[in-house]
Amino acid sequence: MPKRLTLTFDNGPWPGATEQLLDFLAARNLKATFFVVGRQLEESAARGLAERARAEGHWIGNHTMTHGAPLGNEDGRARYAEEIGAAQEALGELAHPRKFFRPNGSGAMGQHLLCPEAVDYLRCNNYTVVTWTSAPGDWRPPHTHWTLGAFEALDRDDWTVLVLHDRFIAPQLDVLGRFCDRAQELDVEFVQDFPARCMPIENGHVHDITEEISALA
Ligand SMILES: [Zn+2]
Repeated sequence: MPKRLTLTFDNGPWPGATEQLLDFLAARNLKATFFVVGRQLEESAARGLAERARAEGHWIGNHTMTHGAPLGNEDGRARYAEEIGAAQEALGELAHPRKFFRPNGSGAMGQHLLCPEAVDYLRCNNYTVVTWTSAPGDWRPPHTHWTLGAFEALDRDDWTVLVLHDRFIAPQLDVLGRFCDRAQELDVEFVQDFPARCMPIENGHVHDITEEISALA
């Protein structure tokens, strides 16, 4: 069984960046998921990029309305319903039918990601929560060292779900290109779907591993 790699790009769409990334993915025939921030879609150029991504076969997921305080923290807890629900409304028909939602929280897994109320809301509204196996820090200047962590993840795991960001990746697509080339040399299979371990809530069904990302016992 070859190792698998799922590419995800968070926090966009970013006009000036996302279109270059979409060109790159199209040229290589790679399909990804864009976890977009609802408020970003208020700008028509950004919304147009999300529409283009969807039309080109990428999946669009919900990454909260404002990317504010993590929903497991006190400030986030008070806002869970609007952060999730308003973003889903903003996505509208762009949203994947499996209702993918990815909480924000500085790339770290933990109970800061979701409060019990948010878990309940996601369950009752049939969301699928998508986490990750590697967030290798493409946001850290000079935005090139993330490949080290990404290769470590490929080495460690049978199925890597990588978190990257349009905004930091697009200015240096040669780095992403070399990473993809090397992964292909290693016979890694690029896939669009997510492993069960990265879906602690799936179509509203809460799996046991939810305690990893929520204080819910
Ligand atoms: Zn994010």
